[in-house]
Amino acid sequence: MTAKSFNAFAMAQAQFDKVAGVLDLDEATRELLRYPLREFSFAIPVRMDDGRARVFRGFRVQHNDARGPGKGGIRFHPHETIDTVRALATWMTWKCAVVEIPLGGSKGGVVCEPHNLSTREQEQICRGWVRQVVRNVGPVLDVPAPDVMTSAQHMLWMLDEFETITGGKYPGFITGKPVGMGGSLGRTEATGFGVVFTVREALKELNLKPENTTASVQGFGNVAQYAVRLYEQMGGKVTCVACWDQQDQQAYSYCRRDGIDFDQLLGITDRFGGIDKTKAKQLGYEILPGDDWLAQDVDILIPAALENQITGENVGRINKRVKIIAEGANGPTTPEADHVIHERGIFVIPDFLANAGGVTCSYFEQVQSNMNYYWEKDEVLGKLDVKMTSAYIAVSELARKRNLYMRDAAYVIAIGRVAQACRDRGWV
Ligand code: GLU
Repeated sequence: MTAKSFNAFAMAQAQFDKVAGVLDLDEATRELLRYPLREFSFAIPVRMDDGRARVFRGFRVQHNDARGPGKGGIRFHPHETIDTVRALATWMTWKCAVVEIPLGGSKGGVVCEPHNLSTREQEQICRGWVRQVVRNVGPVLDVPAPDVMTSAQHMLWMLDEFETITGGKYPGFITGKPVGMGGSLGRTEATGFGVVFTVREALKELNLKPENTTASVQGFGNVAQYAVRLYEQMGGKVTCVACWDQQDQQAYSYCRRDGIDFDQLLGITDRFGGIDKTKAKQLGYEILPGDDWLAQDVDILIPAALENQITGENVGRINKRVKIIAEGANGPTTPEADHVIHERGIFVIPDFLANAGGVTCSYFEQVQSNMNYYWEKDEVLGKLDVKMTSAYIAVSELARKRNLYMRDAAYVIAIGRVAQACRDRGWV
């Protein structure tokens, strides 16, 4: 599950170019939307626990804020690059637009390996990140959130640093905060649940009953865990979960024909979504190579780990039975693989639609933080379902009406809205 020599930003631009043609966008709008509005790349010096100083690389990219303040997570990952962050910021712009929340697209990152950092060192990285961008982020400018290997605790340290520097209480500065500290109930579940809300709608469209379907999932972190939970509650059966093994520095697929036992698997999983291999074997899981999750004889594939996972090399391994691919991760499918999937007629719920539940709930969190009044969990999840379902229906209706691939239909809606906002503001 590594990034290899793949360029996520080139992929995001290629996806944009394809739809810019369909939408017949003028040159200036294309120029504006192909690149981020602003980028910050900086050093974060940290005093490590052993007394030595170390410098980490940090990024914040603001792709577009025509529809509202920038919004997007911060990833901690050893292979983070400015190009990956650019791509992720671009996808955030389309994500907020497709679910019609009044926010733009941003993303941040730090090149680091949290597995090897103490709690105190992670806190220093969070505070250092905020110190470097404090003038360029904020509740009405650009609002960060958690992403790969960052948590509610990281968000709270960042908020605390922001409030210490600016001298006020600004809970709307950041989302994904702990519940009770300005966080929203349901935010932890939101991305995974949102994926399954869209799967539920796709199953209806394909005339399939959830209880007659099976799924294979890549990843077992925050997104994957809640997706598995809700899909199983709907009656579906997950037969395989793949995840990264930190010790072996490679991924494995954990499969069981009669279905995984979610709670049991969760009990042997660390906070980064890594499964204990030895214990999994004892519990009767077959441990297969990392890519095998996509070769499983299932109806639904849910890539919910990182970008660049379904590629030209492994796309041919997708089982004939697969009917739906719901992209829980950002950018899991390369354009080469996407072409093959399209040709094969597999129904794709594209990433920035399928995984928009997280940012939608972040928007609800911001609203609650700004009012300082917090909703019950059912209210949050009910509103989330409404937003996700209506976004899904708008995309699938357009796809059917204009005979478009689902990914292209989602792009037509999202890019159309952002381009319109840029025109309305007089930017282009
Ligand atoms: N990191 C999540 C994403 O990729 C959520 C972003 C947010 O809540 O702002 O969509």
